[in-house]
Amino acid sequence: MSDNGRVPRPTASGLSPRLPSPLVALDDDRFARHGVRVLLKRDDLIHPDLIGNKWRKLAPNLDAADGRAIVTFGGAYSNHLRATAAAGRLLDVPTIGIVRGQELADRPLNPSLSRCAADGMRLHFVDRSTYRHKDDPAVLAALLRAADAVDAYPVPEGGSNSLAVRGCTELGRELRGHADVVAVACGTGGTLAGLAAGLAPEQRALGVPVLKGGFLPAEIRALQEAAFGGPRGAWRTADGFHFGGYARVPAELAEFADDFELRHGLPVERLYVAKMLYALVALAQEGRFAHGTTVAAVITGAPDGDAQSSTSR
Ligand SMILES: *Cc1c(COP(=O)(O)O)cnc(C)c1O
Repeated sequence: MSDNGRVPRPTASGLSPRLPSPLVALDDDRFARHGVRVLLKRDDLIHPDLIGNKWRKLAPNLDAADGRAIVTFGGAYSNHLRATAAAGRLLDVPTIGIVRGQELADRPLNPSLSRCAADGMRLHFVDRSTYRHKDDPAVLAALLRAADAVDAYPVPEGGSNSLAVRGCTELGRELRGHADVVAVACGTGGTLAGLAAGLAPEQRALGVPVLKGGFLPAEIRALQEAAFGGPRGAWRTADGFHFGGYARVPAELAEFADDFELRHGLPVERLYVAKMLYALVALAQEGRFAHGTTVAAVITGAPDGDAQSSTSR
């Protein structure tokens, strides 16, 4: 009990995250033969339920919500929805997930959404057109009313608000003095935006977009503007490794990931991490890293068995 007689509210740091996350060397001839040293930044080991960059992005928001319910948004396979639901269970905070796709309401929940529901998340399904326009304040207000979430603390789709971006600067700070280049897979780009801001001036961040479209650099600039008031750090994106778009895992990528797991005993999350690792192998092979370069690869998540897409959808 605290002085005022209330039970103190659990905070994210009370969940004993493993921070700084471990940094381990990778022994892989596909890099060594090009004079490139690779380190794995094991953010997947931060917390068993709140994994990787989802921890770094959600923790400051959980504390800011201060016990209010959290409402957030995502597709049927969203890692962000699952992480938010898990956080709600761990911290005893109500969570509401607004899910893209009205038609899903009439079907059995997929494994990812089942997990959200099992963690206590209240799911509210909306049609795709409304969902697409949720950044329009009037549409959003109506949506929150319909979901009975007017008083809840809103976290945007993918979780990348300014608190989340600032939370990811710590990832950069943990890597200062350890690598020349830091590679990370990008969805919204929030992790890259914060990571780049936390690195030392001589370090560079390299983002691997998993969505197609090429819109990411503009989004990252906007996220940095909102979080820090201007551009921060040296970063760029390596395009051409999205393998057809979000949640697309063609056979070539699946085989690469299976092989990587066998070689290194590292569980490889398919939707993001596999694409980043594939990009690093390809770039090293093309001689795009100078001899003597140390690359840290951020392992932002872990595979989740049945919740993962194993084929193209
Ligand atoms: C959500 C997620 C990302 C993408 O993070 P952004 O901040 O949206 O770019 C990367 N890797 C994994 C494993 C994720 O779950």
